[in-house]
Amino acid sequence: MNSPHIIDILGKDESHKVIIIGGMHGNEVSGLEAIDKVTEQLKAHPEYLKKGKVYFLKGNLSALQTGERFIDKDLNRLWLDEYITGDLEEIADTKDLKELHAIIENICQQNYKDCTLLDLHTFSAESGIFCIPTHNKKSLDLASSFHIPFIEKLSESLPGTALAYYGNKGMTSIVVEGGTHGTSRATENLEAAIWHLLAYEGIVKDDLEIVKRSRKKLQKEGEVYPYHLELTYRHQLDDSRFFKMNKGYYNFKQIDQNEPLATHYQKQIKSPQKGFMLMPLYQKKGSDGFFIVKEIKDIYSKKR
Ligand SMILES: [Zn+2]
Repeated sequence: MNSPHIIDILGKDESHKVIIIGGMHGNEVSGLEAIDKVTEQLKAHPEYLKKGKVYFLKGNLSALQTGERFIDKDLNRLWLDEYITGDLEEIADTKDLKELHAIIENICQQNYKDCTLLDLHTFSAESGIFCIPTHNKKSLDLASSFHIPFIEKLSESLPGTALAYYGNKGMTSIVVEGGTHGTSRATENLEAAIWHLLAYEGIVKDDLEIVKRSRKKLQKEGEVYPYHLELTYRHQLDDSRFFKMNKGYYNFKQIDQNEPLATHYQKQIKSPQKGFMLMPLYQKKGSDGFFIVKEIKDIYSKKR
């Protein structure tokens, strides 16, 4: 396998495969920086590796070159059969989509259950860290193991993500949103998330110092936020150019019903419900203005 999308392939055998993607959005380089740090360590310490194989992939190559979220269409909304196998006119982002898809198919060889996908992201809001599982039990178990907030029902509400596409095929899939675009904190958090996942999946040894440090870091970053949440509202945008989020919102800020949150075409947008703010949009490109999440209590909440 040779492709500019492949950063590195490391590991011992084919018993289990972990796929880690950075830069699915071209303005999110922290995931790639985190991947560089981890691969450097793994190459310097081959004794860290236990079993299985990890594939480090680069997402939207053309958008990474220009530093934009995407060129024509959001690559992380294109994971749908009509774009992957359909004969729609090829645009920059679908070229990346088809190449990435072919690589992942080649890795998995239809055995999606033997594969785990970690997709690394950052956001434009000022603070926060969280992960997004699918509704699959293994994905939920994995999400809860990071000890950072994890949000249910978000995957189902965002059509065309790699997360949902491979989750539906039976792959254990997860997104980690590490922090604010371009910050060293986001890179460090994503690096910690990779080490935790590699140990969780048995790719590296569980008792490595770097794994212990990473787990402590994630726990510390996450403990200030609610732990287990679900999506209750999505403010979808037809045209983000005319959307303006009010100042001062960040991930997990408490909001009240009827609180003015943003303006769109100069019309005020008020919160339809009480809850916690998620991913307020403070950048030009995006298909969602903000999300509202609520805390849920169940067996996972007790495990924290
Ligand atoms: Zn992203």
